[in-house]
Amino acid sequence: MSESQTASLESIQNFEGKYPKQLWSLFFSEMWERFCFYGMRGMLTFFMVYKMGMEKETANLQYGATQAWVYAFTFIGGMFADKILGFKKSLFWGGILMIAGSIILAIDPNAFFFLGISFLIVGTGFFKPNISSMVGQLYKKGDHRRDAGFSLFYSGINTGALLGGILMIGVGKGEIFSSVIPENARWNVAFGLVAVVMLISLLTFAFTRKNLGPIGDTPIDYEKEKQKKWYVYAVYIGALACIPIIVNMVSHTKYTDYFMYFIGPFSVAYLIFEMTRLDRASNMKLLAALVFIVFSSLFWAIFEQAGGSLSLYAAEHLDRGSFNLDPNIVNNSSNSLFVIIFAPIIGLLWLWLNKYKIEPNSVVKFGIGFILLGAGFYIFGANKMFATSGVAMLDIFALGYLIVTFGEISLSPIGLSLMTKLATPKLQGFMMGMWFLASAYGQYVAGLFGASISPAETATPMEKLEVYSSGYQQFALYALIAGVVVIAISPLVRKLMGDVK
Ligand code: GLN
Repeated sequence: MSESQTASLESIQNFEGKYPKQLWSLFFSEMWERFCFYGMRGMLTFFMVYKMGMEKETANLQYGATQAWVYAFTFIGGMFADKILGFKKSLFWGGILMIAGSIILAIDPNAFFFLGISFLIVGTGFFKPNISSMVGQLYKKGDHRRDAGFSLFYSGINTGALLGGILMIGVGKGEIFSSVIPENARWNVAFGLVAVVMLISLLTFAFTRKNLGPIGDTPIDYEKEKQKKWYVYAVYIGALACIPIIVNMVSHTKYTDYFMYFIGPFSVAYLIFEMTRLDRASNMKLLAALVFIVFSSLFWAIFEQAGGSLSLYAAEHLDRGSFNLDPNIVNNSSNSLFVIIFAPIIGLLWLWLNKYKIEPNSVVKFGIGFILLGAGFYIFGANKMFATSGVAMLDIFALGYLIVTFGEISLSPIGLSLMTKLATPKLQGFMMGMWFLASAYGQYVAGLFGASISPAETATPMEKLEVYSSGYQQFALYALIAGVVVIAISPLVRKLMGDVK
């Protein structure tokens, strides 16, 4: 039976109400994938330093390389999905690789660390961009409910992030379920959780994918073009062959540097090559998408201080606030929690504003995202005014996160939505991959930004706080300038976007 014999695209896209029902299965599948990503992100540096005995600096560099690779591989995953696998097959293949990586890590996380991580990197690359692309295809061109759908999907991302971020390190460190998991197996179980939840993710997808009809089917009809069937196997084998290369790249971070110098220009060159085959209107749209992509990398470079400098700042320069909370837990979870609470509300706000014809257009939303990011970072910096002996207030810090989160909500889900609107049908996965590639650069630059505001160990607490605070206010200024520039060029970008709103 062909994958498309179930629901027709027409019937899917002509849904009634606010959200298409298929959104929920994509929501849950992606929720579990992000559980793994953020769960791993929360454990990696800790595990490398305290369990593998790495130097902090090396661990940080390797952490950065891993993060950059995860997002860089989404670009590759998106590209092969467009050309050969289709989104559904890509997603399964990605999920299977993630499960394999998790099992490898669960067997012996110390011995097989880089091997397991590399399986997870490649797996995430095939999974992550393609599920977002499928969300986009649930909507007809011009359907104003698309942004709200992406906002809801974004809540799923963050529900996974919140659960994974708490549970995985909690199990590893023995804070959670310590009475049922023997001490010597805690990290094995923590890494093994990825396999469990990815199995749930794939099963959810397997049982509900018939509702997606033709969305995400392979771009080539392999029944008719049997001779092309080997393309699929070539992608599988190619992906496996990448794993030893990535093991090397992540464990020797300077190779990752070289790769980063190469992949960005390569992706732009490839885009230009694709553009030579398209009409002017499509090319203008792709150019608009590129503007969003370039700006988004600056957004993530500032935003992603969360995993780096802000976590060190939280560890040393914050009190426990009104609710007596650990500042690092607040740093790791408040963003996700705020997204879960506010993304659906903001999604509905867009719909409501649309009803009164005063919804800001996507470019302006993007600009607002930057301005809010700037305001949030300004608050992080201004917190020093409330500090005593170099310790500032957690409550103010959380307020900063709330504003940063509003910024993220008006930029990130909108960005996903825009990619699906601006890309031509054959470049959906590729453009989504490029969007995430900008995150890879963001992660990469975040490390450099973070290092640039890292205070001397010999400084007093107040001096250290001063260094962080003026750094955050500097980033706030960059974000503000970017926001003003985006809003100022919005008429031009909208022209490029043509009929896309
Ligand atoms: N938090 C979002 C996610 O994990 C966006 C991340 C990004 O694009 N850098 O999907």
